Amino acid sequence: MSTESVLRIVWIYPDLLSTYGDRGNLLILARRAAMRGIPVETYSVRSDQPMPSTADIYLIGGGEDGPQALAAQRLINDGGLHRAVNQGAAVLAICAGYQLFGHSFFAKGAKCPGLGLLDLHSDRGETRAVGEIRGDIDPRLGLPPLSGFENHGGRTHLGPGAAPLARVTAGVGNDGQTEGAWHGKILGTYSHGPALARNPAIADLLLRWAIGADSLSPVDDTWPEKLRAERLAAAGA
Ligand code: GLN
Repeated sequence: MSTESVLRIVWIYPDLLSTYGDRGNLLILARRAAMRGIPVETYSVRSDQPMPSTADIYLIGGGEDGPQALAAQRLINDGGLHRAVNQGAAVLAICAGYQLFGHSFFAKGAKCPGLGLLDLHSDRGETRAVGEIRGDIDPRLGLPPLSGFENHGGRTHLGPGAAPLARVTAGVGNDGQTEGAWHGKILGTYSHGPALARNPAIADLLLRWAIGADSLSPVDDTWPEKLRAERLAAAGA
């Protein structure tokens, strides 16, 4: 990895975890940084490669149970992501990636150890949660409502060390009441769609966390706002 002034974004294990357009999160972050004149380098790190620990933002996506369990095992064995988080990297973890940030999750009927980087654990629900999701984000984060698409069999239970990302207003999320979690600079959510296309304010939050800025110069969000309006309305229908 190169010079300090470049914003380095890692997309974790595209070969295992990338459903429902989750790669879009990488494209959107890089684009929104570039629009502010922030030099960006992006890295796609496959599951057979060592995980660098010196990047600024890490993105991890959703996946089916088998790849999810394998990804967790490899990330635990590798240790690079733990080092990155301990050094203050920002993280966006989606669905399977969100579950594996917790202490444990279920895949193919078996309980699997997670990374333990978010104080939560996941079990299975009686039905799959599939469809539009919408929620009011924790006011401390100062963001507009969350919009996404969810498709998961797991249900997630937060411990005292993690705060819900949002209160659910449509869909299921963690348990029908809350959706996602955050702690420090780690955000986890069940929202695909991809999440950052539907929630550009979350992209900007991750950028602000990564560069240590209170605000960023505004960009033209006409099209993302049209998408949000359409999807938020669809979730309410
Ligand atoms: N395999 C997990 C579940 O079904 C996550 C699914 C996903 O990432 N879409 O709960």
